[in-house]
Amino acid sequence: MDSRRARYLDAMGVTRWVPRGQSSMKDAVADLRTDELDWEDLRRAVAGCQRCPLHQSRTQPVFGVGNPSADWLIIGEAPGAEEDRLGEPFVGRAGKLLDEMLKALGESRETAYIANVLKCRPPNNRDPSPEEAERCAPYLDRQIALIRPRVILAVGRIAAQRLLGSDAPLGRMRGQVFHYGPNRIPVVVTYHPAYLLRRPGEKGKSWRDLLLAARVVKGAVK
Ligand code: URA
Repeated sequence: MDSRRARYLDAMGVTRWVPRGQSSMKDAVADLRTDELDWEDLRRAVAGCQRCPLHQSRTQPVFGVGNPSADWLIIGEAPGAEEDRLGEPFVGRAGKLLDEMLKALGESRETAYIANVLKCRPPNNRDPSPEEAERCAPYLDRQIALIRPRVILAVGRIAAQRLLGSDAPLGRMRGQVFHYGPNRIPVVVTYHPAYLLRRPGEKGKSWRDLLLAARVVKGAVK
């Protein structure tokens, strides 16, 4: 099947038949091209996605929320139970804290954009597997390319490691500006709000990260 046809079938959420003898796992990862999809096609592709087994247990994929032309792109890990139920990222307790963090920056979930590494909920709140993250990557990558934010705030280890292609601990990735993808979008790493709920003493460090990201948005730091 040519890649153009495959891309349209994926965008329409049609499961593709894989000829026997072809490595379905590897090819499914390799052949999803999202780089020509516009926002609505991308949303449709995610809505019908069956690229990993999480589609069997999800209520719905969680595409993201906010302004598709935002300066700030917040990237978390994956939907939890409430997000899976409501179809919106960060709606639980951690989400309330994220809203407070955005408010302190003069932003909100309407002015910023919030998305996750995974669009579908991993059962029992387990971490996303590397394979799930890889299969979902073309969707997040296309969101980043279309939004073209002034800064990406990676909240938590999973988002930071996925964007930076690193297995360094989160503490070592904080306090610096990295760059992601062909457009070299600046990335700042901070703690996941769920972690801050458990360790409120770390909020000061997180605030410093947000101030660094705010300076990137203003163009004061590259
Ligand atoms: N945690 C995340 O990383 N993402 C969500 O959407 C909710 C909780």
